[in-house]
Amino acid sequence: MGRVLTIFNQKGGVGKTTTVVNVSTALGILGKKTLVIDMDPQGNATSGLGLFEFEEMIYDYVMEQNPNAVYSTKYENVDLIPSGREFAGVEIELARLGDWQFKLREMVAKIKDRYEYIIIDSPPSLGILSMMALVASDGLIIPVQCEYYALEGVSQLMDTITLVRENFNPQLEIDGVLMCMFDGRTNLSLQVIDEVKGFFKDKVYLTMIPRNVRLAEAPSFGMSIFEYDKNSKGGQSYFQLAKEIVGEEV
Ligand code: ATP
Ligand code: MG
Repeated sequence: MGRVLTIFNQKGGVGKTTTVVNVSTALGILGKKTLVIDMDPQGNATSGLGLFEFEEMIYDYVMEQNPNAVYSTKYENVDLIPSGREFAGVEIELARLGDWQFKLREMVAKIKDRYEYIIIDSPPSLGILSMMALVASDGLIIPVQCEYYALEGVSQLMDTITLVRENFNPQLEIDGVLMCMFDGRTNLSLQVIDEVKGFFKDKVYLTMIPRNVRLAEAPSFGMSIFEYDKNSKGGQSYFQLAKEIVGEEV
């Protein structure tokens, strides 16, 4: 059975999608069958994995409860259920489904045994789409940006996780907290790491993702960092993170 992991933080621009694209392709390189589910109407994970044209998107999969034909990506071992702009207005429709909280979970259950990892990208909000993703997940990876106010919003995030555990998904775990856009030259980054470790303790991944311009450039070419510049600092660190996730020595 695949482990379902949502990359989750309702704060915008912290590195969720960059993590989804690069961790999933790294897992593929490590030989792990991986499915990416794009739950964000911005569709950044979809285009970041190089898929620009598609007929069906996550909305259709949830409505029809039929995940049998997912999309392949150009990356070995990485499949995708895409998302895009037309999906933005359909939250209300999804919410009309009875027991809507469970609909992504039920759909995912039908293909969970085909993958080792199912990685879900979530939007920067605490709405219906994020709720569906949390209910569908076994674990969460929480990217935190190394900047002032890194912990701002974390109490709201923890409250949401508690709410989901108490009402819908008691097994939901925090698999790890990922420090993103780390800058080793500044005291600020080190201070933020201390603060985040004080709060999340040993949940913080040993691997940290540095601020690296190659990571920011790759999506505009529809490429993962491993296609764009695998030897960059960003590429090396995301590869190391994938190894940490699968439990290999780092
Ligand atoms: P949203 O909440 O809007 O979905 P997000 O949390 O998914 O945002 P990303 O899209 O991954 O965040 O990253 C935000 C911006 O920062 C993007 O332009 C991305 O290319 C850039 N970025 C992400 N990680 C890094 C990094 N380690 N170094 C440099 N730039 C980065
Ligand atoms: Mg995103």
